[in-house]
Amino acid sequence: MSFRATVLTLYPDMFPGHLGQSLAGKALEAGAWSLETVQIRDFATGRHRNVDDTPAGGGAGMVLRPDVLARAIDAASPEGDPRPRLLMSPRGEPLTQALARRLAAGPGAVIVCGRFEGVDQRVIDGRGLAEISVGDYILSGGEPAALVLLDAVVRLLPGVMGNEASGTEESFEHGLLEHPHYTRPQEWEARAIPDVLLSGNHARIASWRRGEAERLTRERRPDLLPGEK
Ligand code: SAH
Repeated sequence: MSFRATVLTLYPDMFPGHLGQSLAGKALEAGAWSLETVQIRDFATGRHRNVDDTPAGGGAGMVLRPDVLARAIDAASPEGDPRPRLLMSPRGEPLTQALARRLAAGPGAVIVCGRFEGVDQRVIDGRGLAEISVGDYILSGGEPAALVLLDAVVRLLPGVMGNEASGTEESFEHGLLEHPHYTRPQEWEARAIPDVLLSGNHARIASWRRGEAERLTRERRPDLLPGEK
């Protein structure tokens, strides 16, 4: 069974977005993963088909109604669906490479995209939604966050990336940022490729790369190093 993504959204036209292009798009076409969107508004009732309402207790903005969203979730992911139910949310567990790997190893994901001020807390609790954040900033909706999450996951699926090795040598895979890259021309605007990379000595090259990765991580993201938090 290939990885199955179902995205609940008020803007289904935003999908597959960039995931319809390049390697993810080819893999989608080839059936290495699948993507289905569910229009939340289809589960609204009443003359105006309202999906949102004013926040209880007052305040700015609107909140997604729990009843409408729950109907959409129940239709998209009936009981017994083994896939995790996720809610894109700035309050969520930060998306990391490790989380992307965990999801890629599973059967897929049901992903709810919030809008407005967010969603009614009762549907988060009642449907067991796991909140996931793509960073400490506020987007206007969960859709770009869902596309980011799926991008990180899909490229890890078997057969999606051309060169399997490149998936395991990247930033974060070994708890470090990646070393710098160079390619031809050998000299460009009076800048040369570091000699060691042209030496053909694989052990020296590996050790230089490791050293650069450690230096960059220390300089830019000391929080990634063991014992530094
Ligand atoms: N009022 C909320 C923000 C709502 S933004 C708060 O202050 O926490 C509207 C929707 O965009 C959210 O429901 C969520 O689905 C999505 N969103 C915004 N920022 C996000 C982020 N950093 N990560 C994941 N989803 C995000």
